[in-house]
Amino acid sequence: MAITNCPACSKPISDKVKTCPHCNLEFGNATAEDIQRKLSHARYQKLHKLQNQSMFAILIFIVGAYFTFMGDFPDTEEGLLMYNLSVGVAALGFIWYAINRVRITLAKRG
Ligand SMILES: [Zn+2]
Repeated sequence: MAITNCPACSKPISDKVKTCPHCNLEFGNATAEDIQRKLSHARYQKLHKLQNQSMFAILIFIVGAYFTFMGDFPDTEEGLLMYNLSVGVAALGFIWYAINRVRITLAKRG
């Protein structure tokens, strides 16, 4: 018998029990260690996905910022529209990146 931590409440439990005595989480046939491994794998995949989204958000921000500052917009209504669109894309990328940073922080903590 080994002592492990409940994947739900993190309290020490035996790896032979089928139900956590602290929070009543049912393991069924899987051991607490199996569930813990599964949970940490899921968390890793979620983090990985969020990090990929962050990279994509940065890319969108760079493209939007590039056109905002480097774009040669004509002094017409279409030019103004294109300028506003570039600013909007940059803002979208920045906001998306900020949201992802918060989600990554929360996922790492949780
Ligand atoms: Zn528990």
